[in-house]
Amino acid sequence: MRAIVFDQYKSTPVLKEVDRPAPGPGEVLLKVAGAGACHSDVAVYRDFDESFGPPQLRPSFVLGHESSGWVEELGPGVEGFTVGDAFLVYGPIGCGHCRACSRGQDTYCENAATMPYLAAGLGRDGGMAEYLAVPARNLVPLGQADPVAAAPLADAGLTPYHAIKKSLPVLAGGGRSALVIGLGGLGQVAVQILRALTGATVIATDQKPEALAQAEGYGAVTVPGGPDQAGAVRELTGGRGVDAVFDFVGVDPTLALAMSVVALQGRVTIVGIGNGSYAWNFYGVPYEVELTSTYWGTIEELHEVADLYRAGKVTPQVELFGLDDGLEAYRRLEAGELNGRAVVIP
Ligand code: NAD
Ligand code: ZN
Repeated sequence: MRAIVFDQYKSTPVLKEVDRPAPGPGEVLLKVAGAGACHSDVAVYRDFDESFGPPQLRPSFVLGHESSGWVEELGPGVEGFTVGDAFLVYGPIGCGHCRACSRGQDTYCENAATMPYLAAGLGRDGGMAEYLAVPARNLVPLGQADPVAAAPLADAGLTPYHAIKKSLPVLAGGGRSALVIGLGGLGQVAVQILRALTGATVIATDQKPEALAQAEGYGAVTVPGGPDQAGAVRELTGGRGVDAVFDFVGVDPTLALAMSVVALQGRVTIVGIGNGSYAWNFYGVPYEVELTSTYWGTIEELHEVADLYRAGKVTPQVELFGLDDGLEAYRRLEAGELNGRAVVIP
């Protein structure tokens, strides 16, 4: 079968012929419906090498860590699935039996250090291919909902959902606000999730006017980039600052923006792996501001995200590419030329 493979550090992935996977014990083989191209893949093939990045992410493996598909074949010992049914794939794959994994939190598997991979599409073969084999316990049912547009939910939906859920306490109480920085694949879904789960004013910013227009369509108030960005954001909060900031870029200027607009007792979540730095100072930020990073989410949360999708409250904006054009999807992602999420359909 054809697949998009990360086969060498610091170089563009390649489209090539690989063996069709056979589902192992406890696994299910899916015929892939769609696989999203995430900006984290760019870090995998551009930034990482033997000395930088998680050791589980060495080449080679098939990319695609947010995927969906239809059941094609059941591996040994698997029962209870019907061929042809549509599922979203929960990407993270931990040991499956530690305390974290038993809570559905494979992202924080206690045995991660000795696992040979992190996730389907991150260290083991992912969904940028015609077929994908994953543990049956990683499947989230989609019912009758369209699996193609659903694919980005597995990361571009789940990651902001997890971060937003953890920030809900600071968004409760009335008159609250949230700021989304970076309105790409994840950021556009973040705006929709904030609107679905809270009554807070959602402020959004990006350098691209089309991205601002899209976020406005989801109900955000937008602020363009530029010299008085922080002032404009503060003004929208009546001067009190933003209760929950989500930075989907994570470079020095976005961290500085986040920390300059956050409210007293607010929370800043850095989602983007731009690897920026921020010099904290006691009097430099309001009291009791929390600054945290985040990583993906739990399978329980992915079930909740699938519910929001089926209810029509969260719908990723997708641009579709055939497998033959998958490399073009990554090129456009790197060039900042996509609107929403690129989904590769085999
Ligand atoms: P994307 O390329 O689709 O979107 C990035 C957006 O940020 C674009 O719209 C771009 O115009 C905008 N942007 C870039 N620089 C900006 C700036 N200085 N100010 C404002 N906007 C700016 O990327 P994505 O796939 O949505 O991923 C976003 C980030 O989240 C990436 O760094 C990715 O690696 C990371 N990520 C983290 C996790 C996690 O678990 N922490 C999971 C998935 C992705
Ligand atoms: Zn585990």
